[in-house]
Amino acid sequence: MIVAETIVDCRAAVAAAKADGKRVGFVPTMGALHDGHFSHIDRARRAEAFVAVSIFVNPTQFGAGEDLDAYPRPREADLDACRQRGVDLVFAPSVEQMYPDGPTGGRTSVHVAELPDTLCGRSRPEHFAGVCTVVAKLLNIVQPDVAYFGQKDYQQAAIVRRMVRDLDVPVEIVVGPTVREADGLAMSSRNAYLTDDERAQAVALSQALQLAADMIHNTHPPAGRVIEAMRAHLAGAAPLGEVDYIQIVDPDTLADVPATDRPVVAALAVRFPHARLIDNRVID
Ligand code: AMP
Repeated sequence: MIVAETIVDCRAAVAAAKADGKRVGFVPTMGALHDGHFSHIDRARRAEAFVAVSIFVNPTQFGAGEDLDAYPRPREADLDACRQRGVDLVFAPSVEQMYPDGPTGGRTSVHVAELPDTLCGRSRPEHFAGVCTVVAKLLNIVQPDVAYFGQKDYQQAAIVRRMVRDLDVPVEIVVGPTVREADGLAMSSRNAYLTDDERAQAVALSQALQLAADMIHNTHPPAGRVIEAMRAHLAGAAPLGEVDYIQIVDPDTLADVPATDRPVVAALAVRFPHARLIDNRVID
């Protein structure tokens, strides 16, 4: 496995693979790898001859007061895990390598209109510009044939798809399902922040989504009724959590929908004292 810390080395490794006629699958991550990340790595491994993973905690997608400094960075464990799963290339650049003029020193940023104005974008206003800019940079550096993202970050995947389409980036975007703990909690590098009590209550997010799916499958109630039921469940089952948002949205436009008689996405974010958790479910 090649570990590249510079853009030049990363490009050279990919160029050599392409010269051998290999297709390149790419899984961008912020590290602290878990089974959610591994699901994408394994899928890439099955589909492509060359698998690249990036590990980069991108400062420009964290807002002021968020967990940039505390974000876990278990570099050696991550590299070992990648080695074990047959990854060919890990691109693990420094902040200086990605942002030679400093994280705020660049003069170019990628903004997708409208899609970031809802869900997580409401409480994290700069987040998706940071995500799009770093993903655009990573796609330009790695130049993969296929890039893998998780449905766990539904809004992110929708925005990246749109960016790739609007900018004619020659890459196929594949979105894989959310990988969960046995009790239903969506895996996240941030789950490690939770206290035992918070962890026990965090299962309420996936329970609320299950409740929404059951209600919608049974009677297609107005979205407002579903949201109220989800809110009531969280109030009872997760008193340590403060709801950031609960929304029922169109799967493509992410606009709030009043009715649930067509496919929707139920999505929520809950702030616990030690971590803000998100989850979503596509309900057909
Ligand atoms: P992150 O390291 O959190 O930025 O995530 C890197 C990629 O893994 C993103 O495309 C995420 O959507 C995806 N991901 C994170 N958690 C999960 C999960 N529990 N299941 C599936 N994909 C995930």
